[in-house]
Amino acid sequence: LSKSQELLNRRKESVANGVGIFNNATVKDAKGAIIIDADGRELIDFAGGIGVVNAGHCPEPVVAAIREQAGKYLHTSFNVVTYEPYIELCEELAEILPHGEKTKVMLVSTGAEAVENAIKIARQATKRPAVICYTGAYHGRTMMAMTLTSKISYKYDCGPFAPEVYRLPFPNVYRYKGSRGEATFVKEELKRLHESALNLVDVKNVAAIILEPIQGEGGFNAIPQKYLEGLRAFCDEHGIMLIMDEVQSGFCRTGHWASWQHYGIQPDISTYAKSMGSGLPIAAVVGRAEVMDAAASGSIGGTYIGSPVCCAAALATIKYMKKINLNQKAKVLGTDIKRRLKNLKKVCPEIGDVRGIGAMIAIEFVKNNDPSQPDADLCSKIVEGCSENGLILLSAGTHKNIIRILSPLVITQQHLDKGMTILENEIKKATK
Ligand code: PMP
Repeated sequence: LSKSQELLNRRKESVANGVGIFNNATVKDAKGAIIIDADGRELIDFAGGIGVVNAGHCPEPVVAAIREQAGKYLHTSFNVVTYEPYIELCEELAEILPHGEKTKVMLVSTGAEAVENAIKIARQATKRPAVICYTGAYHGRTMMAMTLTSKISYKYDCGPFAPEVYRLPFPNVYRYKGSRGEATFVKEELKRLHESALNLVDVKNVAAIILEPIQGEGGFNAIPQKYLEGLRAFCDEHGIMLIMDEVQSGFCRTGHWASWQHYGIQPDISTYAKSMGSGLPIAAVVGRAEVMDAAASGSIGGTYIGSPVCCAAALATIKYMKKINLNQKAKVLGTDIKRRLKNLKKVCPEIGDVRGIGAMIAIEFVKNNDPSQPDADLCSKIVEGCSENGLILLSAGTHKNIIRILSPLVITQQHLDKGMTILENEIKKATK
């Protein structure tokens, strides 16, 4: 048995089956975009631990900052004893992610926890109970976050779910536009949004509308500009908090700190995690100061909120991202990846769509060139083929027919070429 196989066998014996396994890869060491597995095999990482290592595996300044902070103090609980790294990180986030005139921040540990708190804050700010979310959404695995998540396979037998959650169809242009022009499609979806006030939930009871401007698990579906403009206006008209979940799309993935910065439309509250801490559990709720301050003292918190070591990791990550201009790198990388995949699409009709913003790029596989005929089998065959050839990749989408690329943005040209060649070869082989 290989060491990797041995490890996977031990996993099977002692780890609960419900803990999903997307790939049979193992790790002994990781650096940049490369993972060395338990047997010393070099793997190219196009998953980045579900989009967590935009700045690469183990960036040196981040590792150094973690070591330095670990030598000073590990924990006091920010609720009990105040420490500077927490405050410094809040200051930094308020500066790079401004919400209105004054921005305030709350740090937590995971994306789901950030979403939970965003909803609690919105409810306290509006004194209203209801939340509207979207199909294709993923917001995490805690009770409210899971309720807001759309895909049923994430929540089999996990109910009863949180009450007062309503769902609208996400305006997924590729899948649902049909023969209509995009402008007409968006207009009709906005009409549906306005009609929701009549047939879904009383707007006077709606605290928040939450969405991922570019859906992550849903398959990298970008909200159309005009829809987001209409949604912002709808929220303003009815006093609803607009929450944008940037957990997957944030921190340079799309070439900005947050994907909403592409649209020039500000949320009232937004959430971040994943690549912000280069792998350490740190997350943030960022929002307009008056909204954030509406949460009563002591009503939001937790023992481990903004661990000092994780704050140090996030501060060093942001500093490093700025130093190497990672946002610019994402744009260049994304252009390169998209160009290669669009070229492949020309000769490969099974590729229905290549899309994305910055380096948040997805490939959607369909049958008969029809957006409404997702091809999950083909997609999983390609992901498996890549895995056998040393490329770690993730699928996505309600129908599991989408490959998403979330490689570290610091990937070298050589590793990118190698990874893309494996992917292209596997697509050609599977569609031949
Ligand atoms: N929101 C989005 C958009 C996500 O992609 C994820 C994780 N995939 C989450 C929330 C939940 O984050 P976490 O797994 O850190 O709880």
